[in-house]
Amino acid sequence: MSTPALPRYEHYIDGANVPPASGQYLPTDDPYTGQTWGEIARGNADDVALAVAAAQRAFEGPWSELTPSERGRLLWKLADLVTANADRLALIEQRDNGKLATEVVAQVRYMADYFRYYAGLADKVQSDVIPTDKKGVFAYTRYEAKGVVAIITPWNSPLTLTSWKLAPALAAGCTAVIKPSEFTSASMVEFAALFDQAGFPKGVVNVVTGLGPEVGEALVTHPDVAHIGFTGGSIAGRKIYEIAARNFKTVTLELGGKSPNIVFDDADLDQAVKGVVSGIFAASGQSCQAGSRLLLQRGIHDRFLQKLTAFMSDVKLGDPKDPTTQVGPISTRPQFEKIMSYIEIAKQEGARLVIGGRSRPDLGCGQFIEPTIFADVRNDMRIAQEEVFGPVLVVIPFDDEQDAIRIGNDINFGLAAAVWTQNLKRAMLMTEKIKAGTVWVNNYRATSFTSPFGGYKESGIGRESGSETIKEYLHTKCVWVSSDLDVPNPFIRR
Ligand code: NAD
Repeated sequence: MSTPALPRYEHYIDGANVPPASGQYLPTDDPYTGQTWGEIARGNADDVALAVAAAQRAFEGPWSELTPSERGRLLWKLADLVTANADRLALIEQRDNGKLATEVVAQVRYMADYFRYYAGLADKVQSDVIPTDKKGVFAYTRYEAKGVVAIITPWNSPLTLTSWKLAPALAAGCTAVIKPSEFTSASMVEFAALFDQAGFPKGVVNVVTGLGPEVGEALVTHPDVAHIGFTGGSIAGRKIYEIAARNFKTVTLELGGKSPNIVFDDADLDQAVKGVVSGIFAASGQSCQAGSRLLLQRGIHDRFLQKLTAFMSDVKLGDPKDPTTQVGPISTRPQFEKIMSYIEIAKQEGARLVIGGRSRPDLGCGQFIEPTIFADVRNDMRIAQEEVFGPVLVVIPFDDEQDAIRIGNDINFGLAAAVWTQNLKRAMLMTEKIKAGTVWVNNYRATSFTSPFGGYKESGIGRESGSETIKEYLHTKCVWVSSDLDVPNPFIRR
């Protein structure tokens, strides 16, 4: 008996599914079962060239002929299709990244609102008439779409993180070539088909799947790509930034984090425990905004740790499709190995293991790691400074506000932070002094299409979400019009 062929995902270029020029495919696996369930096209520079050419044709042709309001109407239609297909798309994505099905379904349903928000914004980008210091001239600004945007995303939330870039890029009038993570490409190819159904001109949105060095780099170096929107790790981010700089391309980089979750002794500790747990253990810690450094004021240090460990005592690990599961598997084998190696590093550095620290070979295909907490951590240890991107929390004590600010900021990252206190003055001081793109007070994780998100320092460049973000995809042009019939003679001084 022959085994049935696996579902195969081709590129999506110029409104059609296109097989890879190489004729090669990569396996795509379920991190819970360990089974290969499908294949994705292994792209190369030839596929990238086709996709960028299609995007450039659409940019110069039918897409540029639409008014901003017409673009907005198409984005709104797309949002309705996302809503209608959210659960189906989420389950495809979930099979690839192994996150909790409940979490991915909620994320993908919410994603429709990103498209609705930017649908509304498409015709509200107003330029300015500039009061100038020159007589007889009139100056105004025009915002013009940059052109073809490359969107490169990681495996943890592929559809959502793509939408954060794609929705404002399309609203601005750009076209796009998307390169999803090689671990999670299937949902993106399925998503791309919705653009055709919504009535977008062919070539406005394209997807080329494959490996970072083969597809990602070809996209970043392509001369017709004007802007790169990247979410991922610092190593790839740095490389992309260097290549982009050589060609003076603009970038938006959303990179890693090691965010401090700071609990003061006057906080409502039971609320803070929930915030700390969701901060680090949601998505098994595979989240850029994870609150992976817990800063505890000395007066409550031991009591809080007890409450935290009690809260974690009966956490259920298991099948991420089971709605009662609370912690799922690690998304990829290399990531699993990286997290286990950091647990060893923490032990060698002298951190005290409070809970967890072990893998769970008995669950699924064995790609599970127990939620892990290390106490007695110094902020200069590698486990406190480097991004683990897994369910590993380090606990660092502090004395007072100044100490918390010093430790919180003593890191190369600056993506997010949270402060738990009932003292308004203390909260305001911390929100002002912490160097991070997002600071939550008495909550963790809130993000929205309405609000800018991004990092300080090595956590990235630029912002995503919110109304200002649309400008990342627009050039500002200043136009000077003379209202004076006489052009001044440059050789006569007035
Ligand atoms: P990664 O950097 O390995 O890969 C991200 C994407 O870049 C993938 O599509 C990959 O194929 C591509 N890529 C890799 N090398 C490339 C190259 N040389 N040129 C062009 N493209 C290349 O990251 P990952 O392991 O998929 O994801 C985890 C990382 O993403 C973590 O560091 C995490 O913090 C970060 N992340 C950041 C945010 C944020 O908003 N700041 C959100 C989610 C994840």
